[in-house]
Amino acid sequence: MSLWQRMMIGFARNQPVRHLMQRNPLAAGLAAQFVGGTDVNSAQVTVENLNNRGFKASLYYLGEYVDSPELIEENVKQIIAAVHMLGRTSLDVHMSVDPTQAGYSLGDAAGEQNILRIGRVIAEQPGQGKKLLMLDMEDYSYTQKTIDMYYRLVRENIPAATTIQAYLYRSKKDIKQLIENGAAVRLVKGAFAEQEERAWTSKSEISRNYIRLAQLLLSPEARARGVYPVFGTHDVNMIKAIKQMTRESTRDVDTFEFEMLYGVRSALQQQLVAEGYQVRLYLPYGTEWWPYTIRRVGESPAALRFILQALWNRPGKT
Ligand SMILES: Cc1cc2nc3c(=O)[nH]c(=O)nc-3n(C[C@H](O)[C@H](O)[C@H](O)COP(=O)(O)OP(=O)(O)OC[C@H]3O[C@@H](n4cnc5c(N)ncnc54)[C@H](O)[C@@H]3O)c2cc1C
Repeated sequence: MSLWQRMMIGFARNQPVRHLMQRNPLAAGLAAQFVGGTDVNSAQVTVENLNNRGFKASLYYLGEYVDSPELIEENVKQIIAAVHMLGRTSLDVHMSVDPTQAGYSLGDAAGEQNILRIGRVIAEQPGQGKKLLMLDMEDYSYTQKTIDMYYRLVRENIPAATTIQAYLYRSKKDIKQLIENGAAVRLVKGAFAEQEERAWTSKSEISRNYIRLAQLLLSPEARARGVYPVFGTHDVNMIKAIKQMTRESTRDVDTFEFEMLYGVRSALQQQLVAEGYQVRLYLPYGTEWWPYTIRRVGESPAALRFILQALWNRPGKT
C-alpha cells in the first residue's frame, strides 16, 4: 500500500476531519463522483438516471465502522426502507450488504437475524424489476459465515448472491460448491490484507486465479445449473479475458454481468454498455459518505487538489 493510500485511510478514520468534510460543499462535490446521494430518495434518482443510460445498480448504504447495536439497527432500518422504496419500482437493483454492517460485528446470531430480516423484505417486494440481496465479502474471519448465510437465504427462497474473493486459496472449492447449487456469484479479486497461508498476495497470482475461477463460473456445467456470474472488476485484462471466454462459448450477454464502482473507470463502463454488455454499478449512498469517498480518492492522487481546496475553504474559516 502506498504512502498516499495510507494517508487517505488515516483521513477516512479521523472523526474531526470526517465531520468537517461532510459539511463542506467542495468535499460534497468530490463525493458526488463516487456516491449516489445522501439518502434513499436521491439514490433512487441516481439509479433511474443510470438506468436511462443503460446501467443497472447495486445499492450500498454507507454506515461504516459501526459497532453499537443502535447504529446497526439504524443500518438495517435504512436498508429495509430502501428496499420498500425500490421494491415498488421496475428497477433491477441489487442491495449490497456487508455482514458486519448488519450485525455480525456484534455476534453471529445478530448478523443472521438482521440479514434474514432484510432478505425477507426483498423477497416480498411486488415490483416488476429483479431485486436481489448481494452479500459483500469481508475479511477471512467472516468468509465461512457469509457463505453459510448465503445458503440460509437460499433455503428460505430469498433471492440472494454471494461475493467470492479470487485471492483466497479456498475460493475454488467454494465456487465449485456454489456452481453445484446454481448460485449467483460476484467474483472479485479481494480487498483485505490476508495472510500468505490463506491467500495469494501477488497481483499476477491473484489475476491468474481470477481467470481460473471465471472459467469455472462460465463453464457449460455452471450454465446448465443456472449459475449467474457477476464479474466485479475494473481490470481491463480480466474484462478482455471474460469477453473472449463468453464469445468463444457463444454465451448470451444477458446470462452474466460486469460490476464496477460508480465513478471508477467511467469510460470503460460506458464502452461495455455500448458493446451490449450488462454493466451494474455499485452505488453507495448515505450521510456517512466521507470515509468511502476518501478511500476512492486514495486510488487517485490527482484528487489531492480537491481535498486541499476543501480543507482551505472549510466552514467557519476566517
Ligand atoms: C462491484 C465490486 C464489488 C466489490 N466487492 C468486494 C467485496 O465484497 N469484498 C472484497 O474483498 N472486495 C470487493 N471489491 C474490491 C475488489 O476485491 C478489488 O479490491 C478491486 O475491485 C480492485 O481490483 P480490480 O479487479 O478492479 O483490479 P485492479 O487491477 O486492482 O484495478 C484496475 C484499475 O481500476 C481502478 N480501481 C480499482 N479499484 C478501485 C477503487 N476501489 N477505487 C478507485 N479506482 C479503482 C484503478 O485505476 C486500477 O488501476 C469489489 C469490487 C467491485 C468492483
